Amino acid sequence: MKVLILNSGSSSIKYQFIETETRRVLAKGSVERIGMKGAILNHQRHDGDKVKITGEIVDHQAGVEYILAILLSHNHGVIKDRAEIEAVGHRVVHGGEKFTGSVLITDEVMDKVQECIELAPLHNPPNIKGIRACQRLLPGLPMVGVFDTAFHHAMPDYAYMYGLPHVLYKRHAIRRYGFHGTSHFYVSRRAAEVLGRPIEQVNMVTCHLGNGCSMAAVKGGVSVDTTMGFTPVEGLLMGTRCGDLDPAAVLYIMGQEELSLNEANAMLNKHSGLAGISGVSSDMREIEQAMQEGHTGAKLAFDIFCYRVKKYLGAYAVAMGGLDAIVFTGGIGENSDLVRASVTSGLEFLGVKLDPDLNAHRNSVERAIQAADSRVAVLVIPTNEELVIALDTARIAGER
Ligand code: ADP
Repeated sequence: MKVLILNSGSSSIKYQFIETETRRVLAKGSVERIGMKGAILNHQRHDGDKVKITGEIVDHQAGVEYILAILLSHNHGVIKDRAEIEAVGHRVVHGGEKFTGSVLITDEVMDKVQECIELAPLHNPPNIKGIRACQRLLPGLPMVGVFDTAFHHAMPDYAYMYGLPHVLYKRHAIRRYGFHGTSHFYVSRRAAEVLGRPIEQVNMVTCHLGNGCSMAAVKGGVSVDTTMGFTPVEGLLMGTRCGDLDPAAVLYIMGQEELSLNEANAMLNKHSGLAGISGVSSDMREIEQAMQEGHTGAKLAFDIFCYRVKKYLGAYAVAMGGLDAIVFTGGIGENSDLVRASVTSGLEFLGVKLDPDLNAHRNSVERAIQAADSRVAVLVIPTNEELVIALDTARIAGER
């Protein structure tokens, strides 16, 4: 089945057009700066043909129109008729407790996704805009929603509940949800394939380290704990997000600095993390560069980043009662040999030992990087969220 996969953000739409039987990406690209001056579409066809188109892309519907037009274009397209698009898969960030897997989008589903807006006020509204645009432009086509939170739905209550008054869970659904679920799902399945072991028998920790970072304890294929929480701010240090923090510190800072709710939110989400600590950049490549040039702030940011990953590795190994594999993915996890080496250093007591040569290559190629005498497998697995969305979309659209 040929499916269009859309990842709609507040000012961008990333897309891939995938033939699911062959898993081939026929075309991919992004629309950026929606609603701003200098809006742009970047499109790449499977044969390497690339094109950039600037235009007035006032809203998400205009963005999807551009995507459809380029897929159909004589010079750069891959289809001759809209009917060749057989289904559309949408990434939806927050499914709350309402969605435990991917679903066919119906009016009832849209009502529930709307209800999840209060849990993800920044993410779900653009996801909804992308879905609505497709409903108008491709009427009658089956569409499937794939949720970032769904893979974590089976966490036990003692892992997802916070130590807050229980009434807050009942009234406002305050709990850990976790994110990056599609990525943790993909790399855990792929890791089991690479290991040649049934996933039901493997205890693994998957580390998705990109601009946003999270880890999951995947026991027998099920996510039993994850570092992101009610929002994607909790857990690891990230590009611009602070990760774990004493919540009372936020209240104290708000008082001392006279911050509004919005300002405090911006501090936690946009001005913290690698960028906030180093004062250099939110980008790990620039942090590593500055660190190697002797910048102490960059070194501290790097050290905090790696220490947190290491700390959660230990926590999850204990939570699962054992550790068979560690998986690195995301821009940092796939590429940074320095991060992987730092995170796993000194873990021989846990049975973790890297092979420095296998680790050394700074390219995101799927491979094992543990030493021959390491009891725990350490894998680099480039993530592929779009493939998961495409396969779920084809399966669910095909079942109608
Ligand atoms: P997103 O979470 O937005 O999808 P990515 O998964 O692409 O982002 O990850 C972006 C991060 O990956 C940035 O911090 C970037 O510096 C880092 N990164 C990419 N390539 C490398 C590399 N070769 N070495 C170190 N970090 C890298």
